[in-house]
Amino acid sequence: MENNTQYNDLSDVFAGVESSSQGLSSAEAQARLIKFGPNQLPPSPPKPWWRRFLDQFRNPLIAILVLAAFLSWLLGYPVDSAVIWAVILINTILGFVQEYRAENAVAALQSLLDPHVSVLRDGRWETLPAARIVPGDLLAVQAGERISADLALVEAARELAMDESMLSGESLPVPKAAMPRQHRAAAGAAEETQRQSMIYAGTLVTTGSGLGIVLRTGATTTIGRIQTLMTSLPPVETPLLRRVNRLAGSLSVAVLVLAALALAVGLSHGQGLENTLLAAVSLAVAIIPEGLPAVISITLALGVQRMARRGAILRQLPAVETLGSVTVICTDKTGTLTENRMQVATALLAESTIHAPFTVSSPQDREALAKLATAAVLCNDAHLGEQGEGLGDPMEQALLHFAHHLGLISTAIRETHPRRDTLPFQHERKFMATTHDEGRVFLKGAPEVILDLCAWEWHPHGLEAIDRKTWRERIDVLAEDGMRTLALAYGRSPEGSWENPAQGGWTLLGTVAFLDPPRPGVREAIQRCLAAGIRMQMITGDHPRTAAAIARQLGFMAPGDPVVTHGQWTAAPPAERLHLAATTKVFARVNPEDKLQLVETLQQQGEIVAMTGDGVNDAPALRRADIGVAMGRSGSDVAREAAAMVLSDDHFAHIVDAVAEGRRVYANIRKTLQFMLVTSFAQGLVVLLAVLVDTEMPITPLQILWVNTLTASTMALVFAFMGRDPGLMQQAPRPPQEALIPPALWRRMATFTALTVTVVFLTFHYGLLDHTQIQARTLAVDTLMTMEAALLIALYGRPRQDRGDAAAGLALLLCLVSQYLFGALPGLQRLFTTSNPDRADLFILLGAGILSYGAARILWGTDPIAASAKEASQKADGKTP
Ligand code: ATP
Repeated sequence: MENNTQYNDLSDVFAGVESSSQGLSSAEAQARLIKFGPNQLPPSPPKPWWRRFLDQFRNPLIAILVLAAFLSWLLGYPVDSAVIWAVILINTILGFVQEYRAENAVAALQSLLDPHVSVLRDGRWETLPAARIVPGDLLAVQAGERISADLALVEAARELAMDESMLSGESLPVPKAAMPRQHRAAAGAAEETQRQSMIYAGTLVTTGSGLGIVLRTGATTTIGRIQTLMTSLPPVETPLLRRVNRLAGSLSVAVLVLAALALAVGLSHGQGLENTLLAAVSLAVAIIPEGLPAVISITLALGVQRMARRGAILRQLPAVETLGSVTVICTDKTGTLTENRMQVATALLAESTIHAPFTVSSPQDREALAKLATAAVLCNDAHLGEQGEGLGDPMEQALLHFAHHLGLISTAIRETHPRRDTLPFQHERKFMATTHDEGRVFLKGAPEVILDLCAWEWHPHGLEAIDRKTWRERIDVLAEDGMRTLALAYGRSPEGSWENPAQGGWTLLGTVAFLDPPRPGVREAIQRCLAAGIRMQMITGDHPRTAAAIARQLGFMAPGDPVVTHGQWTAAPPAERLHLAATTKVFARVNPEDKLQLVETLQQQGEIVAMTGDGVNDAPALRRADIGVAMGRSGSDVAREAAAMVLSDDHFAHIVDAVAEGRRVYANIRKTLQFMLVTSFAQGLVVLLAVLVDTEMPITPLQILWVNTLTASTMALVFAFMGRDPGLMQQAPRPPQEALIPPALWRRMATFTALTVTVVFLTFHYGLLDHTQIQARTLAVDTLMTMEAALLIALYGRPRQDRGDAAAGLALLLCLVSQYLFGALPGLQRLFTTSNPDRADLFILLGAGILSYGAARILWGTDPIAASAKEASQKADGKTP
């Protein structure tokens, strides 16, 4: 790559590009890509593998195991020591591999979020990954975009301003203007004097839009650190994982205390130092759920990958957990609930209403339509390709199609009336304006706003004073049908004197209405959402009647339900706002700042809010929401960076899918925890009990390791693959402050543990009656495994006919075979001091299995934690419909 020698001499770049309005040819772009390299930075060196490996030993549980291995060796049990080392090794490798996998998963998600840019190539506007742009490319930039190369502006809207704080520390937006033509040929030094016309990689467009030519890419850009600017994902640890690690920490303390207790009691019983130390080691090894952190991270990573496959990319991993407790989803309408593939369906003119396909016979109507369409083409930033493929705002594309349909050629109109200046569309302003040759001004925007700005209306015979009331009534009729409406106006102002188009006095040309039907699948997703005790709110910039009509079509609003607008919301005193936030289903014609206030009001009421957004001004609300959701297709970079989750195709249903997945992950992690803690404690307490009542050890430390490794590496992993409980989306959202394992669960776990300990203990002593000690121990281990397997089956519940079933079946089969070999294979017999199982003992195992399954079903069968959504909504006093 020719570092620092990329076009410093601006004249070179402009010479290559400005000679035509075609942008670079793809052949030239390809050649430049080879010459200058991709527009990215070389990746930072990854953490070396041995560091990752050693990091695994920083886990306190592993440290205790290392201690146990040393102790066994000192006490003269080299085989035990070797096996403990093997377990440590297996666990470190498991942890190592899972960390690597999780990082890869995150990197893969990252690549889905890589920025794209609009670039002119071969005369066509295309959307390309930012990495593929080269010096000399002509880029279109717009509000909300994070710039990915250094650019010289050749065209700029009136309000183009950049946030350059990452470059200069300046927090106020810096206004920018196009570089005067005569300066463009000046050599490199020009840049310094032309800062006002340069925009730099890493900075953000706060308002406006423009066209710029790429001067420098990749490592040669001024900031040269594109990576840090791209949406970078935080590390893999989540609060849940932290809580689990903390739990593991407390467990280590419990282990040490119990081991000390065993030691003290053993010594007081006069069992000798060696024996009691051995018992203490067994106990420690038994209770430590070595595989727990790894198993939980795998569950999280798989959950995140599964969400990504279903179109929801998590930028902040803690969101996995929060998602499960979402109580309200506030969503945009256009593009999320509706198709956003718009079509002009109706045109309202002063003297007639014309529906698609716009065939008119009267010359007056034809003239009026042509005027309307001309304004729609000129006050418009979209482009259409030769095959009709479009670039830019779907509504503006629809306007171009409308004009083409009427026989107008948009490129020709734009060439005849070149644009001089632009006042870009903004959600707050709700209109856009452009000026053209001879002082022509065109405006388009929300009808109420444009009507207020107009003094006249256009008629074929001349201008008449505007009749706002009639226009409003006619527009309302269209909005009632769920159509999106837009008014177009024009006027003339002497060159340069349109400083404030909002001053009014313009002439209304007419109104167009777009059909934007609900997206398939949204209605069902909303029903799922309501069944899961989650409230729905639509928050849109669109007309109240349009919004209400769509909400009714989607089935979450009854005919009489009120719609709240920006005016009503801002006028409401705080107490009234609480009420509005709690009861309103549709907010229409609202501004982005209303969204922030709404999130805050909802949060005051204890709601956990998921809020969607796409524009620059949505960023504060997205950041403030518990789950900010940005749009992957239509959203701005700023919104994406502020969000916790990005929807790859903007579809509302994916939010609900993600909530369902969040609930599944949490529920399954909880099951993993219960399963692993119960099994670990059961083993540990068997040992402790033997010490306390001063009898022989029913299970040796080595055997405990066998059980532990098998349960952790096979059985517990079942929960990572386990599908969703069918009832999970019929339950109320989980209270976010709820403990990982609430007291009710601890009680169940304790009961089940006590049962297991008793049964294992009794079987061992029963075995001792007519078996050797080795046989009795084998029986005890078999009993323990059987009871664990039965617990797994009970916690798993009904088969779900998915991958989880296969995983569970495979794990159980694997355990069964291994457990048989454990007693039957001579090699394992020698290593673990076991013997062939007695056929008569099978009945004991069967009995233990049935008992344990029955007990688990009784204990876990009814879930007091999961209140049904219906109960919760009743409690919430009519919050859900
Ligand atoms: P949502 O917030 O659900 O996406 P929305 O897209 O309709 O709804 P806004 O984008 O704020 O909300 O648009 C509000 C109104 O402004 C629209 O109903 C339309 O009349 C007008 N409008 C939208 N886009 C443009 C545009 N590019 N130029 C001019 N007017 C526009």
